[in-house]
Amino acid sequence: MSRVKLCEGCKKEYNVMYRVQYKTDRLWYFLCKSCVVEVKRNNHHYRYGGTWKG
Ligand SMILES: [Zn+2]
Repeated sequence: MSRVKLCEGCKKEYNVMYRVQYKTDRLWYFLCKSCVVEVKRNNHHYRYGGTWKG
């Protein structure tokens, strides 16, 4: 079984996640690829911190 993480955005499990900041709280969140596409749009808080693979 592969390891998975829960996406903070859509609450689904994935085995590839993107570590990003996208809010004013400057905390790191794990998001799936499609949620990253959503949050990075016109977002100057967006910062990419690496890719996690389960
Ligand atoms: Zn997601």
